[in-house]
Amino acid sequence: MNNLRPSRVTIREVGPRDGFQNEPETVPTDDKIRLINSLGRAGFKRIEIASFVRPDVIPQLADGVEVLRRIDVPSDVAKMVLIPNSKGLDNALVVRDLFDEAAIFVSASETHNKKNVNRTVAESMADNEVMARRITSEGLTCAAVIATSFGCPYEGHVELGRVLDLAERFAAAGATEIGFGDTTGMANPAYVSDFFTAALDRLKGVEVTAHFHNTRGQGLANAFAALEVGCASFESSFGELGGCPVPAGSTGNIATEDLVSMFHEMGVETGLSLAGVIESAREAQAVLGRKLTSHSITAGPVEWNSTLV
Ligand code: ZN
Repeated sequence: MNNLRPSRVTIREVGPRDGFQNEPETVPTDDKIRLINSLGRAGFKRIEIASFVRPDVIPQLADGVEVLRRIDVPSDVAKMVLIPNSKGLDNALVVRDLFDEAAIFVSASETHNKKNVNRTVAESMADNEVMARRITSEGLTCAAVIATSFGCPYEGHVELGRVLDLAERFAAAGATEIGFGDTTGMANPAYVSDFFTAALDRLKGVEVTAHFHNTRGQGLANAFAALEVGCASFESSFGELGGCPVPAGSTGNIATEDLVSMFHEMGVETGLSLAGVIESAREAQAVLGRKLTSHSITAGPVEWNSTLV
């Protein structure tokens, strides 16, 4: 057996933020709360719940504070919120007791960053460094996310060194976790293997998290490649919720239940109930009223004692 492969990993469920944000319909607040409570019962210890992006920009998440207030998940679940800028952080800190982890972000590619947040990477990083210090001084965990880490739909190749330089700046400012996002699904397993080998080597003492999108069906292969070089932290979205604006109509994050199924079948522990995750995904499917693209939501867990052949 590969001795770099972790025997246990953590999975942060990001569907309530990354997923709901990118779905065409706005999920009613009561349904969001019911689904997040269901995720809590499935065993997640980390859930990305809300964002402090301006509600006119992302109306799907305008009810974030109400959701944070009303959810009922076990007390040891770390609730994450996404913070786009210092103004968003001001708003988040008003309700500081409602969450545990704050995620800040930048795109590794200049063009993607400009299109996403209308700032240069340098401008975003200057603000991010100030935010990271404020977040940690509040006693909150600061996680940083680097979007388009594996390629940019506008610029193409993104230099690995550039991505890791940004990661080191985040770590120096206080981020204890760096997530690398394959925002539009451009990564491939061979590159992921090289990428995470280098990232884990350079970011010692920092939690290195893989965030893959299944835009081109390679999400699980990429997760496997990251696992095999020692990555032990993943993000995914139940039901494979979340589209992606580029290319239009694409699927979003890898499905949590497919990722959990793969890990469990490999003997890698997640601490999650696969049946519980599938149940949550099926509830989400019922709420949205259309078939979601995850595989395990249809197939269910592998049953080794089945009489079917
Ligand atoms: Zn994502």
